[in-house]
Amino acid sequence: MTHHLPKLPFERDALKPYISEETIEYHYGKHHQAYVDKLNALIPGTKFEDADLVTIIKNADGGIFNNAAQVWNHTFYFEGFSGSGRREPAGELAEAVKASFGSFEKFKEDFGNAAVSLFGSGWAWLVKNNNGSLSILQKSNAENPVRNGLKPVLTCDVWEHAYYIDYRNKRPDYIKSFWEIIDWDIIASRY
Ligand code: MN
Repeated sequence: MTHHLPKLPFERDALKPYISEETIEYHYGKHHQAYVDKLNALIPGTKFEDADLVTIIKNADGGIFNNAAQVWNHTFYFEGFSGSGRREPAGELAEAVKASFGSFEKFKEDFGNAAVSLFGSGWAWLVKNNNGSLSILQKSNAENPVRNGLKPVLTCDVWEHAYYIDYRNKRPDYIKSFWEIIDWDIIASRY
């Protein structure tokens, strides 16, 4: 089975000024594509040759896991954005955010702190627990909560390649902009 780079659900300049077209060209066009290509190069002749991404993420290790998880993580990350959309959660998800964190503002603060303080490369995740509550997790490198049996609803890529073109070393500024492009109708559909 050959894995493919999914098409972005928005134009490459749709997230300006928060994420530039140049960042999309590199982050999606080069980095995301490279994970797809490396995965396709690694799986022939292995037991993951015909496996879907989630099966690979749950069962593989080493390079096959890393590249499969990075393909999945980036698709999930990019698909959470829109050029225009709901910028605050509503309905059932808004209630869950309030119940788990106190308020949307407090959630943004906690999630932002998790994203900013994550040492090195990785991802900040919002996950749905089995009882419907929400938790924030920090994961290094390609690590993904699906492997822990959790349901991801939102993620923020804090690898430097996600923000270096637009924000240089200023990860906190990138996180501030992140909230301006998250589409909460999409996030709610995952909850
Ligand atoms: Mn990335």
